Amino acid sequence: MMSQVPEVLPKDAHNSALISNVHPPEWQNPEPALRYNLVVIGAGTAGLVTAAGAAGLGAKVALVERHLLGGDCLNMGCVPSKCIIRSSRMAADLREAKPFGLREPAHAEVDFPAVMERMRLLRARISSHDSVRRFRDLGVDVFLGEGHFTGPDTVEVGGTTLRFKKAVIATGTRPTEPTIPGLAEAGFLTNETVFSLTERPRRLAVIGGGPIGCELAQAFQRLGCEVTLYHRSAHVLNREDGDAAEIIQQSFLREGLRLIFNCQTIRVEKENGEKVLFFECQGKEEKAAVDEILVGTGRTPNVEGLNLESVGVKYDRKEGVEVNEQLRTTNPRIFAAGDICLKYKFTHTADATARIVIQNALFMGSKKVSSLTIPWCTYTDPEIAHVGMYERDAKERGIEVETFARSLRDVDRAIVDGEEEGFVKIHVRKGTDKILGATIVARHAGEMISEITLAMAGNLGLKTLSTVIHCYPTQAEAIKQAADAYSRTRLTPFLKGLIHRWLAWTR
Ligand SMILES: Cc1cc2nc3c(=O)[nH]c(=O)nc-3n(C[C@H](O)[C@H](O)[C@H](O)COP(=O)(O)OP(=O)(O)OC[C@H]3O[C@@H](n4cnc5c(N)ncnc54)[C@H](O)[C@@H]3O)c2cc1C
Repeated sequence: MMSQVPEVLPKDAHNSALISNVHPPEWQNPEPALRYNLVVIGAGTAGLVTAAGAAGLGAKVALVERHLLGGDCLNMGCVPSKCIIRSSRMAADLREAKPFGLREPAHAEVDFPAVMERMRLLRARISSHDSVRRFRDLGVDVFLGEGHFTGPDTVEVGGTTLRFKKAVIATGTRPTEPTIPGLAEAGFLTNETVFSLTERPRRLAVIGGGPIGCELAQAFQRLGCEVTLYHRSAHVLNREDGDAAEIIQQSFLREGLRLIFNCQTIRVEKENGEKVLFFECQGKEEKAAVDEILVGTGRTPNVEGLNLESVGVKYDRKEGVEVNEQLRTTNPRIFAAGDICLKYKFTHTADATARIVIQNALFMGSKKVSSLTIPWCTYTDPEIAHVGMYERDAKERGIEVETFARSLRDVDRAIVDGEEEGFVKIHVRKGTDKILGATIVARHAGEMISEITLAMAGNLGLKTLSTVIHCYPTQAEAIKQAADAYSRTRLTPFLKGLIHRWLAWTR
């Protein structure tokens, strides 16, 4: 049976190419095998990595997807957002060209439809990695349609029954819709619809000052929208290191974003074709007229319709599927991976947990999620990247830390690049060089954090980082300089005295 082909707007050649890769209209589901080693429900990053990895090892795998292979990351998350962020950085750079000795280009105006078309073109290109045909050629049986459990070892998709030895739930999340009266009637955008825009909204309200809200708010402001960001806390990115979030907030303000904090959106009304947002700030009701409202207020797990109760898989409508350290659900034959069961909802954690599931489900492995060192990055400009503990985490656990920091104002490459807003901060367990966590704020912080992640994963201390030769000039030298600051603290007065005496004696 053929599944219904999802609509991806606008209907153009790029989106047709995307669909022909990740949900081909002519696709016929294969004849199912008698029994599968693994049936994977959901073909986002977690499902794709599980299926490809298991099939590569010789397992018989069925992969079930109701919408588009690639899931959020390819179709409505990382890939499209980073495409438009790249265009928005280019626009911001051109506007700031003068101090670099360049005349501002006469026509550096943003062509919004062209920005969105570039995104669609690149997304379609990247979609070949996640194509149905590629997975078929890897030996995976791909079933397009909605999957649900029908018995202790069966999943049904489009009337076909798939028998499994083990199953994996990788159904991800969807945007949480806030219960703001009038919002649905007025119409709003989420990550599922915003990348279909072809015209620039003149005035854009972004509700939610977390990573998704911040990345998109800055990008759209730079692309020429008048953006107002509404956030219920007192600061953007309030889960991040405070100094880091402050740099981003100041950069938003300099770029003309309007920031409204400690506010509650009360209702939305439509007046003369405009959307009017009513919100309460410090007990005062205010209103603002906008053209579009983009909501980025969290994620809701896709647990409905899977018939999880029937197979004894415990879940929570807000937290997702319950798993143990080995990613096993409350049914020992069923595992979960990715956003559906994780606190840290990232593509790289979906990938890493899929690898754990392959080992644990197929080979009786006992790999634990807690063994992972997980970094993350918010792709604002500058970026904030983090790994391990924040200072507050250490405090909560009663661990004493020492922090070694380096401002990018002291790093030659950041100075010559005109990218001095930022820092590297590394926390170690007091009295040792054991790295507990780090935050980097820099234009390419996401690239830089890997060095510290590697050190933590490989159990290398800050002392070792101070011996690593970095190319000069690079912004990553800030990491070495922070490590050097640690090494200097090891020079006790006694050692210093000894060195002085030696040098005096050998003079
Ligand atoms: C705007 C935005 C930007 C982001 N940027 C980044 C970033 O830069 N870096 C990063 O690491 N992360 C980013 N993320 C997060 C990242 O996209 C997710 O963490 C990642 O996609 C999770 O993968 P997953 O496989 O767990 O779930 P998903 O990608 O959500 O995939 C789940 C799949 O399951 C399918 N499904 C659900 N129910 C069923 C069913 N019953 N039957 C069949 N199929 C089903 C869905 O259709 C979907 O395709 C971003 C997210 C958003 C929204």
